Amino acid sequence: MRLELNQLEKEFGDKKVLNGLDVDIEDHHIIGVIGPSGGGKSTLLRMIAGFESISSGQIHLNDINVGQEKEKLHKRCGFVFQSHHLFLHLTVLENITLILEKVHGYSSQDAEEKAIRLLDQFGLKQHVNKKPQQLSGGQSQRVAIIRALAIDPDVLLFDEPTSSLDPVLTYDVLETILELKKEKKDFVIVTHEIGFVKEVADYIVFIHEGEIVEHGPVEIVEEPKTDQLDDFLSKVF
Ligand code: ADP
Ligand code: MG
Repeated sequence: MRLELNQLEKEFGDKKVLNGLDVDIEDHHIIGVIGPSGGGKSTLLRMIAGFESISSGQIHLNDINVGQEKEKLHKRCGFVFQSHHLFLHLTVLENITLILEKVHGYSSQDAEEKAIRLLDQFGLKQHVNKKPQQLSGGQSQRVAIIRALAIDPDVLLFDEPTSSLDPVLTYDVLETILELKKEKKDFVIVTHEIGFVKEVADYIVFIHEGEIVEHGPVEIVEEPKTDQLDDFLSKVF
């Protein structure tokens, strides 16, 4: 994937939360975004996803100019955010087929076949007819991941997909994400699971107080160059 940020800024009122982010990351499959809470990671991811307006600057994700091509972006990207937003009145199966039929033009039969194939692949086939409330947190987060995957996105965006889960369920979700790595999927993941991000990411962006303080191949977390990254890593390990 290619992710290019040019002088990217975000203000909420008179508060600047992203302060001139500049990177051009090419030819990496998995970008891990790390940094202390409140630094602007979620804001950045929501901007890349087109859910938050750009105050100034530009974002390019592959060939998509994010500020100008929302529709294309939303057809070609999958999103999994902090709390899984499954539709509670629909079954697991319907949660996945809905978007395939309504947005991507699948027939109901094709949508169903695809959803069942994916649910089977990720060990959730026995839950197809359940409603989200009947699933564990880890299961519903995995359904949210499958829903994002079902559209065959060019890129998946994950914002702390395990933050609301206990350790056992976290493990399930991380396994699912490792599976995506094996399949050479491209994704950007914000996570505080540093051990995991070291295992899965090939490129790291470290955000601190609205700035990219360090970025580079995943090895940068082994030898931090700045006090900020050093500090952050010593607190999360
Ligand atoms: P992180 O994900 O790294 O914890 P966030 O992107 O959530 O950081 O937040 C960065 C800063 O932006 C925080 O100070 C937060 O309070 C502020 N912020 C985030 N969203 C909004 C919003 N909708 N309105 C005002 N301030 C916001
Ligand atoms: Mg966040």
